[in-house]
Amino acid sequence: MENGGEATKWRFGAANPALEAAGRQSIRSIVSGLFDSLDKSDPRPVAPLGHGDPSAFACFRTAPAAEDAIATAALSGKHNCYSRAAGVEEARSAVAAHLSRELPYDVTAGDVVITAGCNHAIEIMMAVLAAPGANVLLPRPGYPLYESRAALCGLEFRHFDLLPDKAWEVDLDGVEALADENTVAMVIVNPNNPCGCVYSYHHLAKIAETARKLGILVISDEVYDHCAFGSKPFVPMGVFGEIAPVVTMGGISKRWMVPGWRLGWIVATDPCGVLREKKVIQSVIDYRAISVDPVTFVQGALPQIIANTDKAFFENAMDVMRKTAEICYQKLMDIECITCPHKPDGSMFVMVKLDLSSLDGIHDDVDFCSKLAREESVVICPGIGLGMKDWLRITFAVDPSLLEDGLERVKSFCKRHGKTKEVN
Ligand SMILES: *Cc1c(COP(=O)(O)O)cnc(C)c1O
Repeated sequence: MENGGEATKWRFGAANPALEAAGRQSIRSIVSGLFDSLDKSDPRPVAPLGHGDPSAFACFRTAPAAEDAIATAALSGKHNCYSRAAGVEEARSAVAAHLSRELPYDVTAGDVVITAGCNHAIEIMMAVLAAPGANVLLPRPGYPLYESRAALCGLEFRHFDLLPDKAWEVDLDGVEALADENTVAMVIVNPNNPCGCVYSYHHLAKIAETARKLGILVISDEVYDHCAFGSKPFVPMGVFGEIAPVVTMGGISKRWMVPGWRLGWIVATDPCGVLREKKVIQSVIDYRAISVDPVTFVQGALPQIIANTDKAFFENAMDVMRKTAEICYQKLMDIECITCPHKPDGSMFVMVKLDLSSLDGIHDDVDFCSKLAREESVVICPGIGLGMKDWLRITFAVDPSLLEDGLERVKSFCKRHGKTKEVN
């Protein structure tokens, strides 16, 4: 259509630089890029070792009791309404009781805010803490949604290291060196994605002491709570809430293997009430009120999901995970260009180092992963996406036979691209 003979000049465009910067860091976009580069003519099944979503595999099907709870809630007609900003009251109480069982004090429904998954909890906490000039300390390697969400709301972030030679413990000296008077929080992920480690009671106590010394709060991402299948038991960070205030974030995505149900929580595990005094929880509820709502009937089902899922389901899931972690570790030990500093004993991931000097014509971790996807139909997440260039993150929450097959293909890929040894 003509506009006085001249074409209309449209003034808009998707050009928010903060959003572009935030989006570039996302694992989802890296991994989906790798899926796009797969060779469609390869008859072998794709081995999806790049992202953790075991729900696709029969051996990781969620508990029937959890599915029943959802069906009952959906059919009851009681949950067709909007929920309150903090969440459905019964769901808040259920989470409070669920967490209190493992704490030396009780959290109450008023300490709990229900979110649309743990990712939503990350979004909310980064926004709540984004005071002008403030900064947060994030782990490297980490879970890049923290960086993306902080970038999007103008919150400065600084990285402390996780130490591969110390079972991926937090470099607490590094934390102290990074912090200044504008530091407000540090984030830990336990059990840890991407490293596959579980922090000891002793190490968590030291983290709390450091946070106290610095006057900062600890955000503990426990979306993998109880995904611990080695010798170390899972200890909630909230146990140390008296030493320093702890915001515990979690959800049902990983433990119940239902990431599609989008249900998580933010909980003040802070017996001294510092978070309340500092209005952090009110601010979380205020943000929730203008953000997305978790689906009401999933919230309505939560008390029954928690109450009715039997121990056998979790024990069986951990047996399978222990087995796949073992397969993964053994297979990786057998691949020359890959070293694994720590055998995974928690979460669904392991972090391994790539030795590029033993490979021919592979420039870096991204090049490795894209050629691997194209040639072997195996998808692995390059470390750069998590702040660790020339490392790889591999998930073992995959059907055991597909995992074995996928890692065999990684092995033959490495052999094929290996430098031919000089014969003398
Ligand atoms: C998977 C994951 C999340 C997101 O959990 P959802 O409940 O699916 O949103 C958050 N943090 C870490 C470390 C994760 O691995």
